[in-house]
Amino acid sequence: MKIPFSPPYIDESVENEVLESLRSGWITTGPKVKALEEEVCKYTSVEAALGTNSATSAMMLVLHWFGITRGDEVIVPAYTYCATALAVMHIGAKPVMVDVGEDFNISVAAIEAAITEKTKAIIPVDFAGWPCDYDAIQQLVNKPSVLQKFHPQSGQQQKLGRILIMSDAAHSFGAVYQNKRTGIHADITVFSFHAVKNLTTAEGGMICLHLPAPFSNHDIYKTLRLWSLNGQTKDAFSKSQAGGWRYDIVYAGFKMNLPDVCAAIGLAQIRKYQDVLLQERKRVFDFYSSSFSKYTWAWLPPYDRQGTSSSYHLYPLRIHTITEEQRDLIIEKIASEGVAVNVHFIPMPMLTVFKNAGYEIGNYPQSYKNYAAEISLPIYPQLTQEECNYIVNVVARSVQLVTPL
Ligand SMILES: *Cc1c(COP(=O)(O)O)cnc(C)c1O
Repeated sequence: MKIPFSPPYIDESVENEVLESLRSGWITTGPKVKALEEEVCKYTSVEAALGTNSATSAMMLVLHWFGITRGDEVIVPAYTYCATALAVMHIGAKPVMVDVGEDFNISVAAIEAAITEKTKAIIPVDFAGWPCDYDAIQQLVNKPSVLQKFHPQSGQQQKLGRILIMSDAAHSFGAVYQNKRTGIHADITVFSFHAVKNLTTAEGGMICLHLPAPFSNHDIYKTLRLWSLNGQTKDAFSKSQAGGWRYDIVYAGFKMNLPDVCAAIGLAQIRKYQDVLLQERKRVFDFYSSSFSKYTWAWLPPYDRQGTSSSYHLYPLRIHTITEEQRDLIIEKIASEGVAVNVHFIPMPMLTVFKNAGYEIGNYPQSYKNYAAEISLPIYPQLTQEECNYIVNVVARSVQLVTPL
């Protein structure tokens, strides 16, 4: 059997929606993007959501909007995809990496210890689709001792009066925290619609705006939209209408807009997301958890607890007491039987660009521990029961071969 890691979910409804865009005479940002933004607002219950060409650029846009720049610090978990930190670096600020907990998510105690007078934002990452402890993070940024350290340097920073919480929810579309879906637990939540994510537009992202009063999320939407389209007063769609040629450039903006032909994929997927795509992921997740729970070596990922549930983006299985080398051997064995697995993530301090910048993995012991023991199994709606059985058998056999007990 050959089992790929994460093929996109493309059915007839996706093909039809994309064809409609292709045949409409309009393929870049226009009605499909607007429709997807509206669906995301409905699904997450945020007031305003802006489509972008990736989550990475979405995060850059938000950090820039908040006035974060050279000399500022943004706290990120060491255990995430590089994009979380690169978005901070690209706007000139410094990512301050902190360790995570056994649930893979950013440690709130570690955030507190890392806050300085330069801290302007925190980017929690909902690893594998399991939401971070947003209540604890909200409480932390509102603590008198933390508020005292905050030195606003832009109009938006003045207005918020505290550290911004921007959730990197690349994994967690459809996850639930305290009985409410992700999108409204941070000031701003960024989803990724990259090809391997739960909901995809091939490449794309979505900025969900949920800032407290006196901010107007609709006004921020308009600003970010303008800034994502070169700062041009008229988008290409309006300009294409007869007589609509004149425009102005009022801000040195970026080019980060989502094309309609891409949004069409996500639009078809979001309509069956809750009832089909998410349920099918849960089916695979539950099957793995019940199958592996009988092995003492298996360390199961967290999910479904007191009003909180995962989006089942990854199945990050960990094997108790193995070394990184043994983990690599197990993966080799699994691959030789045709099953594609992955490791999420190589902690950022182990990657060259961050090592060269002075980050050291020794400062992030739990991140290393999670990484060394972790194997991400295939999880997606198209997996059949037969394939799931095969994967469980192959994984169990490979673990026992490498670490005979
Ligand atoms: C995929 C991913 C991103 C980047 O998303 P893009 O849309 O590809 O920019 C950021 N953070 C995490 C945790 C991711 O997994």
